[in-house]
Amino acid sequence: METRLLLPTKENIEIVGKALYSGELAAVPTETVYGLAANALSGSAVKAVFEAKGRPMDNPLIVHISDFEQIERFKLVSEIPEKAYRLAEKFWPGPLTIIMPKGSAIPDEVSAGLQTVAIRFPSHPVTQAVITAAGCPLAAPSANTSGAPSPTAAHHVMHDMSGKIPYVIDGGTCEVGVESTVITVAEEVPMLLRPGGITLEQLEETIGKVRVSEAVLYKMKDGQKAESPGMKYKHYAPKANLILIKSSDEKYIEYVNSHAGGDVGALCYDEDVEKLFVRTFPYGGKNDYIKQAERLFDSLRAIDETELKTVYGRCPGTKGTAMAVYNRLIRAAGFEVIELA
Ligand code: AMP
Ligand code: MG
Repeated sequence: METRLLLPTKENIEIVGKALYSGELAAVPTETVYGLAANALSGSAVKAVFEAKGRPMDNPLIVHISDFEQIERFKLVSEIPEKAYRLAEKFWPGPLTIIMPKGSAIPDEVSAGLQTVAIRFPSHPVTQAVITAAGCPLAAPSANTSGAPSPTAAHHVMHDMSGKIPYVIDGGTCEVGVESTVITVAEEVPMLLRPGGITLEQLEETIGKVRVSEAVLYKMKDGQKAESPGMKYKHYAPKANLILIKSSDEKYIEYVNSHAGGDVGALCYDEDVEKLFVRTFPYGGKNDYIKQAERLFDSLRAIDETELKTVYGRCPGTKGTAMAVYNRLIRAAGFEVIELA
């Protein structure tokens, strides 16, 4: 199959919208990462998404809307909990996914057989226009091969999906750079299942106490139930062995330089670059968590373009947006962290 890379003109958005409605796939830019979209009301269209990505069928998809009233109109949920209204009012359109009790129109492929469904109203004008042109909600996981870093630019999508899907819309680079924050309000106390551009602190300011799923920050134990199925899978890992270093600035520089060699690299902060004697992949300023989130996946993909064997990454903190960066990096590193006193 030839993959057409299209600019987001009005005409192209109409073409892609029609194709999506009739069951074809298209990758579209969003404010978080690029999504691989399909008609969310069609089980067979959604199945093709799993096939193109090589995604395990038990990992449910997020349903994207371009208007709040579509939730009821398309029977996406059986009930909108009161906390969902408050979150939607504050953070939609935007990088927040809300899990609610599933409605009758949701195919089993979308929810992976769960009784709940994940809904997001994205803010990116192109995503909104594509959903509106399609005339149906769109199920869209990240447009990468399952397990690879999520795509934040059209060339990342082409790298993974060229020849597998008919359309990719090029909307430039993604502003947030990490996937949406996922919260469930389908239980008594809401729970954060995946950190993202909307922080735990912002969520708690809006709806009070939010629990954090253990799998957000810690490796899941054998037999532990995944509150969000996606968290049990290996993810984001580059080919090189990525090891996180938790230490002061000086100790990190000293450690990496003492291990310098041709096949060693550093996934570091911008400030570290000039002090390191190895190939560097800076992913943002030390205290600029928003920039780190935006650049992280591009840096991980850049490491994959090399033959490096070992990459030492700086281990971020877990407050604010840093929690989202930490959550992705700890998985990319297979939870391997060296702590230097
Ligand atoms: P992706 O679209 O690739 O960012 O993946 C969507 C994420 O949302 C995965 O981690 C899923 O496990 C999670 N997710 C989607 N639907 C549900 C649900 N009903 N309950 C819990 N987690 C969900
Ligand atoms: Mg994904």
